[in-house]
Amino acid sequence: MIAEIIMNSSVRNLDKTFDYSIPYEMEEKIHIGSRVFVKFGNIKELKEGFVVNIKEKSEFKVKDISKVEEKDFIDEAKVGLAKWMAKRYFCNISECIKLMLPPGTGTNNLENRAKEKTARFIRLARTIDEIEIDIENKKIKSEKHIRALRMLNKINEIPSKELEEIADVSSAILKTLEKNGYIEFYENAIERNPFLHKVIASTQNLKLTEEQQHAYTAVEDAIDDMMNSEFLLFGVTGSGKTEVYLQLIEKVLKIGKTSVMLVPEISLTPQTVDRFIARFGQEKIAVLHSKLSVGERYDQWYKIKNGDAKIVIGARSAMFAPITNLGIIIIDEEHDSSYKSETTPRYNVKDIARYLAREYNVPIVLGSATPDMDTYYKTLNGDIELLELTKRANEASLPEISIIDMRRELSNGNRSSISMRLYEYIKQNIKNKKQTILFLNRRGYSTFVMCRNCGYVAKCIHCNIALTYHSRENKLRCHYCGYEINPLKNCPDCNSGSIKYSGSGTQKLEEEVNNLFPDASTIRMDVDTVTKKNSHEDIINRFKNENIDILIGTQMVVKGHHFPNVTLVGVIFADGSLNIDDYRANERTFQILTQVAGRAGREKDKGNVLIQTYNPDNLAIEFSKEQNYKMFYNTEIKIRKALKYPPFCDIILIGFSSEREDNVIQSAKFMYMSLREKIVNEKLQIILYKPVPAPIDKIKNKIRWRIIVKCKFDNKIIESLSDCLKKLEMYNVKDVKTIVDINPTNMM
Ligand code: ADP
Ligand code: ZN
Ligand code: ZN
Repeated sequence: MIAEIIMNSSVRNLDKTFDYSIPYEMEEKIHIGSRVFVKFGNIKELKEGFVVNIKEKSEFKVKDISKVEEKDFIDEAKVGLAKWMAKRYFCNISECIKLMLPPGTGTNNLENRAKEKTARFIRLARTIDEIEIDIENKKIKSEKHIRALRMLNKINEIPSKELEEIADVSSAILKTLEKNGYIEFYENAIERNPFLHKVIASTQNLKLTEEQQHAYTAVEDAIDDMMNSEFLLFGVTGSGKTEVYLQLIEKVLKIGKTSVMLVPEISLTPQTVDRFIARFGQEKIAVLHSKLSVGERYDQWYKIKNGDAKIVIGARSAMFAPITNLGIIIIDEEHDSSYKSETTPRYNVKDIARYLAREYNVPIVLGSATPDMDTYYKTLNGDIELLELTKRANEASLPEISIIDMRRELSNGNRSSISMRLYEYIKQNIKNKKQTILFLNRRGYSTFVMCRNCGYVAKCIHCNIALTYHSRENKLRCHYCGYEINPLKNCPDCNSGSIKYSGSGTQKLEEEVNNLFPDASTIRMDVDTVTKKNSHEDIINRFKNENIDILIGTQMVVKGHHFPNVTLVGVIFADGSLNIDDYRANERTFQILTQVAGRAGREKDKGNVLIQTYNPDNLAIEFSKEQNYKMFYNTEIKIRKALKYPPFCDIILIGFSSEREDNVIQSAKFMYMSLREKIVNEKLQIILYKPVPAPIDKIKNKIRWRIIVKCKFDNKIIESLSDCLKKLEMYNVKDVKTIVDINPTNMM
């Protein structure tokens, strides 16, 4: 038999199959989706490839496959998905297959891969009755020995290191117990599960409200009828969406199938996972996200593949988990931008979910308080069924939201970033022993350095974006490449001493707050303070458990946390997300403000939200005061229609980058010309813009240009674009990297 193999490579012209013959002794082991190693060209060491087809014979003289990896393989359906993705996202099939392999195995080097981990376990070597008699007879005297044995009897089999910890005994004591014949050691595989041995009180189904019941039943019917329908569960934070997910997952469990629950990477905290563990127990749950170690992910992956995990919770990459009996796909906070990959393959996880839902005939449930405009548009079209939860489930009322015009503060002589009103509210809150969150949307609003005499702004020499001041290290640093310099005293351009550190980062805000409220305790959460594996959770837990007065943070504080004692949320500078160079600036601002507002007053006490802005008339800010998504949608959709933005068309970004500017321009122009020719010859309905430098026209010394195309993204455009890309490759401008991004989330 002959196997068609795709080599593991991102080189474009290796994106084709090569024939190899399957040696007789491997015939049983090789199938579509197998990982194999072969001799390739003149290369000495074996190269990795994937079997994508098997056939009777080849028209070429072929070599044998040298080696097959029996354990790691993907199923045939996933090979189909990889082929579909490669076409749709203009990348190599192997680049897509890599997303589906066990974590840590995407390396060519077999010796270096992740493996299962073992540890030294212990168990009792005699019955507890015999042991108790020995204790009685003073054969075992030491307090520590007795403690260790009784503890071990309660827990049964456990890694010895863990017993040492919980029984507070040394390894020497355990050795003595072994020598005396009371316990024995043995090697055993351990699951590197980061949530293991955490005790969580179990919860039971709540009685659903009428709205929840209606939503539940609609999806349940689709599960029973094996329909691949799509639903939008639209409800404010606290309206009980998660309870609906939990009960749907229970339903899917009952029919023996597996559920996928996607949440944004940033809200994948143990807090989120705990709610699922509390309902279903740890054994059935696998968690996949990038904060886990490779080993942990490897174990979680096999837990799914073996069929032990019936509930897969994870960030977007979890959609590629090796699930064989899919029952439902749930995507929470479906508007979140982390569902779109910004590296090759540049997929949107909703596309992948839709492909798999069709393949397995299962429903998709999207959940949000502020749906993606595109999703809501589809509910009006009838492509997605709308399920609404209009009330908060636990009777908590929505917070009171006020807008504060910061232009007036300035004219009233208040130069700080905290308005008089917010100041008073915080003071009151501290007095009442209630907690406050101050949110700073740092994107587009960092501490940059400007000369007030000539307007000079300190920028990165590699990336052409403003440098940010970091007070702790006393450095100016580039957020893209890490380039840093010492703070400036004089302007390099005009030599004046009027250098001003403008804007306000979270660090500076914390300093200001500490000055204004010297007796209040504060804690800060942003990319600089969240570093180690659990630090994100640590900060959240400390804020909660130590009842710290004020939490200061970026985006990270916004997502999905439940703080019962928070009654005040201050948005320091709502305009941060308005000033980004993106057609979704309004949508993003509305989403963020609604989400922050949702953090206040989630229990009995009424919450207050103060939104500080320099643009009080902006529609996103105005409608977030009303918390009225539909009004926001109805206004914003008109703008989208008039300007031909999604959902009325798709935006395709073709990017070119290289250290050599002339090569970049040459490639971009060539691509532009061949696309223009296509439009004329094939009468394509597309709007093509001329090549221009990207808004950030240089990153890490690479010059960046782009072409924007607006059109309906369909098979015809896929073919035309592929043709043009192939021509560009043959034209062969050296060192220019070309990428294609469909509806990118980051337009920079
Ligand atoms: P969401 O996911 O929409 O933010 P949750 O499912 O977290 O909402 O629910 C918010 C709060 O309301 C939680 O404390 C939850 O336990 C409670 N809750 C949800 N559904 C019900 C219900 N049917 N009856 C009583 N309490 C509920
Ligand atoms: Zn100057
Ligand atoms: Zn830089």
